[in-house]
Amino acid sequence: MDKIVLSGMNISELETLMKELKASNFRAKQIQNWIYLKSVSDIEEMNNLSVKFREELKQIATVTNTTIKRKQTSKDGTIKYLVEYPDGECVETVLMRFDNRANLTACVSSQVGCAVNCSFCATGKGGFKRNLTSSEIVEQVLTIQRDTGLKVTNVVFMGQGEPLLNLENVLKAIEILNTECQIGSRRITVSTSGIAPKIEDFAKANNQSTLAWSLHAPTDEIRNKIMPINKKYPLREMKKALDKYFEIAGRRVTIEYLLIKDLTDTLDCAKNLAQLLEGMKCNINLIPYNPVIENDYKKPSNNSVMKFKYILEHSGKKVTVRLERGADIDAACGQLRGKVE
Ligand code: SAH
Ligand code: SF4
Repeated sequence: MDKIVLSGMNISELETLMKELKASNFRAKQIQNWIYLKSVSDIEEMNNLSVKFREELKQIATVTNTTIKRKQTSKDGTIKYLVEYPDGECVETVLMRFDNRANLTACVSSQVGCAVNCSFCATGKGGFKRNLTSSEIVEQVLTIQRDTGLKVTNVVFMGQGEPLLNLENVLKAIEILNTECQIGSRRITVSTSGIAPKIEDFAKANNQSTLAWSLHAPTDEIRNKIMPINKKYPLREMKKALDKYFEIAGRRVTIEYLLIKDLTDTLDCAKNLAQLLEGMKCNINLIPYNPVIENDYKKPSNNSVMKFKYILEHSGKKVTVRLERGADIDAACGQLRGKVE
């Protein structure tokens, strides 16, 4: 018989299990603490449980059934994990440390592959395999915690997959991250290519996390070329959805904008973008394109990045330029494929 997997269980599920084992609810609390905060890999390590009880628990349960298939560490401290689930499917998860050492950000995947198929993205090229369950999403954070012994403080849904096409499980995962891992919603960001009808659902269910929209182009004409999803949910429709989001959540969205040389980094694009975002409550994150797959796209020059930033700032927006993390281990944006070559 397959063993019960403890990680992914919430407190009431753990309490039910304790009842079956004729143990007290206090044991459930202790196990919860070991799984989500101390992040042990083995029941043996739960040393405030009696040896006898640990033996009993080990007979029927295990901490996790997820394994690290591969791990790569970058010069800048970024770590990329290839995580394998029991059915053999793998996704990538990245741990980023920024200068402030207390801040540890996990970049998690929400699906195996992605059906949205943006022209610049390595994940999209691999096609879509399946949705991840909420536990499988949380497992990525726990895998990092178990491996490093550190506590993840921030989570961004910017790995493989389109989170709003797996919304139910993503919301459940956020709930577990909140209550079990004690990562507050305000430290969680969900990035979407723009699934307009799901934005309102997201806002209603979770109005504390940050929503990031991968806009990447200032006109439908350019956006249609690089993001086929735009044909289904064009800019106008997305803007309406984001107005609604602001109405419900009252929170600024983050606009992610990919700078591709001579395609989306031109002065015209900057002006059109400023116009498009006029009156919208948002911050802008510029992402210099990362050449990851065979295509004609090129990185923007530093000069054009700076000019672009200046024009947007001049229009009154707060603009940041995304630092490239983990480029030497293919852990930067858009490089995640989840394959073992
Ligand atoms: N599917 C979601 C979240 C995952 S992608 C989304 O698209 O928003 C996370 C971010 O990386 C997105 O903004 C995506 O557009 C960006 N990205 C994808 N490929 C990239 C590349 N080659 N260079 C830079 N950023 C890329
Ligand atoms: Fe999917 Fe996001 Fe990649 Fe587009 S950029 S293919 S939505 S993961």
